[in-house]
Amino acid sequence: MNTFSIAIHGGAGTLVKGMMTPKLETQYKQALKEALDAGYYLLENGGSAVDAVEKAVTVLEDSPLFNAGKGSVFTATESHEMDACIMEGKTLNAGAVSLITGIKNPISLARDVMEKSEHVFLAGDGAMQFAKELSYKLEDASYFYDAFRHNQWLEIKDTDSFQLDHAKKKDSKFGTVGAVACDQDGNIAAATSTGGMTNKKWGRVGDSPMVGAGNYANNKTCAISCTGSGEFFIRGVVAYDVACLMEHKNMSLADASNEVINKRILEIGGDGGLVAVDSQGHIAMPFNTEGMYRASKSSMGTEEISIYK
Ligand code: ASP
Repeated sequence: MNTFSIAIHGGAGTLVKGMMTPKLETQYKQALKEALDAGYYLLENGGSAVDAVEKAVTVLEDSPLFNAGKGSVFTATESHEMDACIMEGKTLNAGAVSLITGIKNPISLARDVMEKSEHVFLAGDGAMQFAKELSYKLEDASYFYDAFRHNQWLEIKDTDSFQLDHAKKKDSKFGTVGAVACDQDGNIAAATSTGGMTNKKWGRVGDSPMVGAGNYANNKTCAISCTGSGEFFIRGVVAYDVACLMEHKNMSLADASNEVINKRILEIGGDGGLVAVDSQGHIAMPFNTEGMYRASKSSMGTEEISIYK
């Protein structure tokens, strides 16, 4: 049996002094553990990597603590526009959605795009039409509401600025969720889901739903889910860059992901991190910010749930 493993994140960023109380820290760690255990349980029982990453991300989407699903940030028009992507390393099949509203679990809609449509990426009204055809129930805006996120938006709503959860400013908060897994057959998968950036306008789409930028999986190399300043992660084609270093330069998962996060993306001004696995079940979770909500567990007996460096 192959070593199986899972790694998840709930966003990376700058932690503002005084914001994190021991009580809040416990809540974050509990939510991470719940997602980790839910994904690991499937792997342990012979489930596929795709099932495990979808499950873990769904648990994180359902928690208001993270900027994905319930608790997503507000756009300039006081709404929620969510993005998600899932990819299977064995087949290179992928599904992604962006600019969707009212969907409780965007990652499941992304999986449906992968499995029930001929396409890879559906956006906006079309993605919503697809959800309607599959009889998705639409949640009311109040389901996604979170007072903290709303206050973040109220502070900047009449300005031209948009705020990344990672911004070094008061009340900056971590965001985006993701999971990567390697199953008992050595197949790997990646899933990422986000509400994007506070006060975003004009149909702004970040790296999270883009295959190769914020999310990627290929059994030959690695499965990656990123979090960070999306504009830079798109330009750095971060997830695929890690895979390329492994494939063409023969680098290990740890070395390749470290090179991209702590050198290549930093050189172009990007901050954030990623979680990664390869088909031998190795795990890497590098970040170049003060912290990243992260957790991992492997059948080799290792388990980690951390926030800071
Ligand atoms: N990468 C996400 C985006 O740019 C944000 C995040 O990771 O928090 O939409």
